Amino acid sequence: MKLPAFDYACPRTLEEATALLAEACGDAKVIAGGQSLLPFMAFRLAAPGLLVDLRKIAGLTGIEVGDEEIRLGAMVRWRDILDSAALAHALPLLPAAIGHVAHYQIRNRGTLGGSLAHADPASEFPCIAVLCGASVDVVGAGGRRTLPAGDLIAGPMETTLGDDEIIVAVRFPRWPEGRRWAFDEFALRHGDLAIAAVAACYDMDGPHIANARVAVMGATDTPQRVPEAEDALNGRAPGDDTFGTAAEAASAAIEPTEDLHAGAAYRRALVGTLLRRGLRASCTRQREAAE
Ligand SMILES: Cc1cc2nc3c(=O)[nH]c(=O)nc-3n(C[C@H](O)[C@H](O)[C@H](O)COP(=O)(O)OP(=O)(O)OC[C@H]3O[C@@H](n4cnc5c(N)ncnc54)[C@H](O)[C@@H]3O)c2cc1C
Repeated sequence: MKLPAFDYACPRTLEEATALLAEACGDAKVIAGGQSLLPFMAFRLAAPGLLVDLRKIAGLTGIEVGDEEIRLGAMVRWRDILDSAALAHALPLLPAAIGHVAHYQIRNRGTLGGSLAHADPASEFPCIAVLCGASVDVVGAGGRRTLPAGDLIAGPMETTLGDDEIIVAVRFPRWPEGRRWAFDEFALRHGDLAIAAVAACYDMDGPHIANARVAVMGATDTPQRVPEAEDALNGRAPGDDTFGTAAEAASAAIEPTEDLHAGAAYRRALVGTLLRRGLRASCTRQREAAE
């Protein structure tokens, strides 16, 4: 289907971009990679009168791995994340999850800012941002603010961004050395949006798990942490019993969504299976790294 008619602007500064958005009073959208917005427009799920292109605005790209945090510009593309040796070392969970995003062409254009703002419950990046406690820097006509990734996502395809606000960067706290992680996903075909996926990370305090975090996506209407599964991991030794208990806790705790791809009961079971499998892999990976 053809796109509905729209005006187009390609500003060079954030001030110009936010002013254009403010003037349009809700009838404008920014365009980043266009990989979600343009299909939405083609299907008439969105019909903005003005598209404000972000590609010429300086300062929205770049991956900076600092001592305290990792800063990713909003226009960082999936391909940049997959190609970054620094990220592979500092936050290996992120490229592992992004490896499940879409296909070659889409990864070359899709951006992390677009993914967060689109807030598809089956998107990998928002889930990893929620799991890791990432902060999102946002600029609007009225100024700048920072909010936790979890507070940005209000519901399926819904955020707390104002009409004139633009995501400029996402900041992840640095991980301690040796943090273990897990990511596992089920989609109908590789690159399709997830039916369900789980992400987790934890440290070792002697023989016991500490600081466990578990998040679910695809199976729920937003990416979300699962404290019940985290409690089942903390203070216990890693192993099949512990992982099985955490998996059961995650399955029981979530409120799974239902659609034409999968029923709620199936998604509930899938979350448990994926978490058990992902956590087992976290131990194997650690052993391989030590050898
Ligand atoms: C066939 C197909 C398969 C896909 N599979 C997956 C998948 O498996 N996993 C996955 O995560 N994604 C998937 N996607 C989505 C893809 O990753 C998108 O690129 C991404 O979700 C949106 O990024 P974008 O840069 O293309 O955003 P756009 O399409 O340009 O924008 C999306 C929305 O975000 C807004 N926006 C964009 N940038 C900003 C910003 N900086 N600040 C504020 N608002 C902004 C736009 O106004 C729009 O509302 C798939 C897409 C397709 C077409």
